[in-house]
Amino acid sequence: MRLDRFLGNQPHLNRRDARLLLAGGRIRVDGQVARDGRVEIREFSRIELDDSVLQAGRPARYFMLHKPAGVVSSTRHEQHRTVLDLLEEPDRQDLHLAGRLDLTTTGLLLITNDGLWSRRITHPQHKLAKVYYVETAEPIDAEYIEAFACGLYFAYEDLVTQPARLETLGSHSARLTLFEGRYHQVKRMFGHFRNRVLRLHRESMGPLRLEPGLMPGQYRPLTPEEIRLI
Ligand code: URA
Repeated sequence: MRLDRFLGNQPHLNRRDARLLLAGGRIRVDGQVARDGRVEIREFSRIELDDSVLQAGRPARYFMLHKPAGVVSSTRHEQHRTVLDLLEEPDRQDLHLAGRLDLTTTGLLLITNDGLWSRRITHPQHKLAKVYYVETAEPIDAEYIEAFACGLYFAYEDLVTQPARLETLGSHSARLTLFEGRYHQVKRMFGHFRNRVLRLHRESMGPLRLEPGLMPGQYRPLTPEEIRLI
């Protein structure tokens, strides 16, 4: 919502009051004087008029988790533990996942209560690179590289996948970079060659890499710098 609208909606203020308060430098957003009513404010913004607090602002929270196998990437599940069960945090029900991983997949998961931030990660338009380490049942042939780079046809969605980068590491292992996130995408891409994925691990999402010191099941808050990178 715009700041001028927020102010005009306060019980004791109208739009004209809002303009005057802004022009007089009496409104602060997150500690900074705000004179432009057009700025967007959020539920996380702290908004003050002189010495009184109009909105305290909820804390925005951001975590990286090393997802272990056997834990579901959802906020609720009937049979399995969910990744949220791994967090010892208050108000866990306010948190959501910025992208998912299959039950057996391990690696980087980002968790937040900031919907705008997570959309920048998951929205296809942003084409954020997601890097996976993959191990397969059959050898990975050189022809995969070009096929993945050109895109593969997914009949269910009737689309061709975005160009992906495959770097082979060994006869049965590779690093795959995707710029989108379709359902079971990595497994389906290797499935195209009838090659089963035995191990799948997400190493990074955009500029954020899974911290090497985090063991499966462990997590830590993101630093302010990491949050800004997205
Ligand atoms: N692709 C998959 O097949 N599974 C995942 O968990 C992530 C990407």
